Amino acid sequence: ATARTTPTLENLLAGLRAGEVVDATALYVDGRWTPSTSDARIQVFDPATEQVIAEVADGSTDDVDAAVAAAKAALPAWSALSGAERADYLERVGQIVGGRLDEFAELASRDVGGPVEASKLVQLGLPIFNFGFYADLARSYDFGGQEVGNSLVVKEPIGVVGCITPWNFPAHQVALKVAAAFAAGCTVVVKPSEVAPLLVHAIAGVMDEVGLPAGVFNLVSGVGPVVGEALVAHPDVAMVSFTGSTRAGKRIAEVAAGSVKRVALELGGKSANVVLDDADLEEAIAGGFANSVGLNCGQACTALTRVLVPADRLAEAEEIAARIAGTYSIGAWDEEGTVIGPLVSKVQHDKVRGYIQAGIDEGATLVTGGLDTGRDTGWFVQPTVFSDVRNDMTIAREEIFGPVVAILPYGDEAEAVSIANDTVYGLAAAVWSGDRDRALRVARQLQAGQVQVNGGAFDTAAPFGGYKQSGLGREAGAAGIEEFLETKAIQL
Ligand code: NAD
Repeated sequence: ATARTTPTLENLLAGLRAGEVVDATALYVDGRWTPSTSDARIQVFDPATEQVIAEVADGSTDDVDAAVAAAKAALPAWSALSGAERADYLERVGQIVGGRLDEFAELASRDVGGPVEASKLVQLGLPIFNFGFYADLARSYDFGGQEVGNSLVVKEPIGVVGCITPWNFPAHQVALKVAAAFAAGCTVVVKPSEVAPLLVHAIAGVMDEVGLPAGVFNLVSGVGPVVGEALVAHPDVAMVSFTGSTRAGKRIAEVAAGSVKRVALELGGKSANVVLDDADLEEAIAGGFANSVGLNCGQACTALTRVLVPADRLAEAEEIAARIAGTYSIGAWDEEGTVIGPLVSKVQHDKVRGYIQAGIDEGATLVTGGLDTGRDTGWFVQPTVFSDVRNDMTIAREEIFGPVVAILPYGDEAEAVSIANDTVYGLAAAVWSGDRDRALRVARQLQAGQVQVNGGAFDTAAPFGGYKQSGLGREAGAAGIEEFLETKAIQL
């Protein structure tokens, strides 16, 4: 063991800045940092240099058992606190993260890859909001006693929650689950993504700092099929809140069925940006880019990756898209002029390049970007635009999770709606029109959990989740707490 076995924000950043391979192998179980029972390690990479920057523990099922036992033991006292008492912890966590925004953002950028300003705004801005939001909700929420008929209907925490999260917005996804679960009175075991885990370790350090009762928050690192599945199968875990790929979500639902466990699933997307014929094309395409290529280099589940434009405006759309793509310059997080960073991993890089090749092979028109980045090192991909894409092509059907946009022509409004809905996914969409009522009417026809009209801003307090294979349940906002509550009718 080295001096750096406590992977707090300060220790992680000090090691990374010094160019050391940071030891982040400790787990957080029962109120303290503790070694894994397994000696195996997972390497964490800097996506811009491809160098190993840290190691986390490749945790075991024994680690999961210990963490779940701690969470179970902590549950009675934690859930017996008032919402206001739990809120104080949440508020403090948000304040601490907000107070060290620059450092947290640097850690996010080093781990996930994007520039620091974007990390501040999104990677940390969202969790800071959510810790505060759920603190407020915990204070005001009515847990105890609505009379319905001769029943008293009460809300109770569901129990120990397993939270399994991806790498694209690591702190945000953990905060959404943990803050809402704490507000509800649940205790948690978090299994962050093994691809970009460092930010979540730093958040665990804040949980430690605010003095949460031991066992309320636990962190076990490791891989999905081992630590993740052990959590999902565990008889003492009442619920699994998962964000990640549709593939893993299906597996989780399957394993959870064995114990009839509640699952909340936030999965993939293939969202449409529907540009109606009376829209400002420039504004619509720019807005779409900001929510695809521009959002974490396209590594966002809500990315508006299918741009639907009237067939007679296709050439104009291509010219605009190529020009806008040119403004998204790629670079390392700390490089002057970087607008978007590299992709998070070699796996992701190879996967996205495979999709670009598929677009070319299947006959889509490559408008800009492609496989050449002009860089020897780093998992970069140029912003890439395909046009004349048909909705049955691979690049229109599968989630790419990179800076790749497909422009699809349509004939009339009905066809636009039909193409937009012709997908197994249903997470997000956007509609643009000169006529707000028309846009609203089309928005109602789209099968998606979030629909943005004429660039309506992302609402952090709105319910978030997917139709169809984009998921089950809703996170965020006031609806987010309901996921973690059981309903009891006491008949009088
Ligand atoms: P992933 O599914 O590979 O991994 C997500 C998490 O699940 C990781 O912690 C992983 O270790 C774990 N996992 C993998 N297999 C598992 C299994 N069999 N049992 C239990 N846990 C398992 O996804 P990823 O590559 O980390 O993230 C990208 C995906 O996440 C994209 O498809 C994206 O659309 C989706 N995503 C969805 C949302 C949303 O809110 N809907 C948000 C962000 C990302």
